[in-house]
Amino acid sequence: RFAINLNVRGIQPSATLRINELSNQLKAEGKDIIKLGLGQSPFPVPQRVVDALKDHAHEKDYLPVKGLKSLRESIAGYINRSERMRCTWEDVLIGPGSKELLFILQLAYYGDLLIPRPSWVSYAPQARIIGRSVHWLPTHAENNWQLTAEELDIICRDDASRPRILILNYPSNPTGCTYTDDQLLAIANVARKYRLILLSDEIYGEVQFDGKHKSIARYYPEGTIISTGLSKWAGAGGWRLGTFIFPKELHALQDAMAIIASETYTSTSAPTQYAAIAAFDGGDDIEEYLKQSRRVLKVVGEYMHSRLSAMGAVVQKPEGAFYVFPDFSNFRDELARKDIKTSQAFCQSLLENTGVAILPASDFGFAPDHLGARLAFVDFDGADALQLAGEDQTGQ
Ligand code: PLP
Repeated sequence: RFAINLNVRGIQPSATLRINELSNQLKAEGKDIIKLGLGQSPFPVPQRVVDALKDHAHEKDYLPVKGLKSLRESIAGYINRSERMRCTWEDVLIGPGSKELLFILQLAYYGDLLIPRPSWVSYAPQARIIGRSVHWLPTHAENNWQLTAEELDIICRDDASRPRILILNYPSNPTGCTYTDDQLLAIANVARKYRLILLSDEIYGEVQFDGKHKSIARYYPEGTIISTGLSKWAGAGGWRLGTFIFPKELHALQDAMAIIASETYTSTSAPTQYAAIAAFDGGDDIEEYLKQSRRVLKVVGEYMHSRLSAMGAVVQKPEGAFYVFPDFSNFRDELARKDIKTSQAFCQSLLENTGVAILPASDFGFAPDHLGARLAFVDFDGADALQLAGEDQTGQ
């Protein structure tokens, strides 16, 4: 009686959400589960942002499709402060999570999608849902899984004028690695040469452990869209607020996305948009919250790295976000004896036998037999950890 769209057939529900539901189910059955699957911030939303949400709970009207003007101004100010750019409120688009904005970007734009392997679980399925072709760009563990300008050039050289979007995500989900200024500059130069649209996914920018996160938009301002939101640095994933910041040259693309938004979700919830102003305006309390978040994540990330290395896995030290991406190929023979030959089977067996939930490398673009996995080191009490980090610093 009905036919499912062919593009959707064969796509599993989002890998991270699937593992989260399975972990919750096992927990509800009384099993002791360590949830290292879903990449959700362990920290509470900063108090002033929660207060702003409460103060605006009565705001009930539909808001403008591109977002509340005062929030767009606040985000422009945030980007100008942190990236020394000169954007204005008209450059900012608000949506219900950056995931939704990424999806409507792909709907609005005609061209191929380029993503480094490994990349976040949702970019490729989103492209497949709308029938767009995906080109995975090779990266290598020895090189911290970073895309190089040379590899990008090789792919783009073939049919140089083809319209393409490159998504670059740093600090990276799933590797926790980020790029140096020189690497960003080199990639920016290739992007300009081939007139790529560069979607710079900086959702973890504020949780880079050391040094200041810098956007590639500094080096390719005319072609870069910055993507960020409240989910990862303000702990508010479930509030669903993401934002894209466009250069003037790409305002037509922003307008096209707004048409799709107007015919689909209309706008992000009003109280959330008012509350987000408090987060993006910043202040001493937000700075302190971010400082302690980074300290905690760095300590946990280093612990994960050292334990996994000691165990014999090959793993890069995370520089930001809350992920590590170990390779367990050293255990290939041992696992094969237990008939475990794919990352999916490895993760399944780990969950069933030890109660540890992690995500297989196959969800991040690898062939099934690449014995890697992503661990999200977020299964701890974030409120306690922030308090301890603060006390530790003040010597209490
Ligand atoms: N980009 C990356 C790399 C992510 O890891 C996530 C969430 O896991 C998102 C985008 C989407 O975040 P949100 O839709 O909550 O803004």
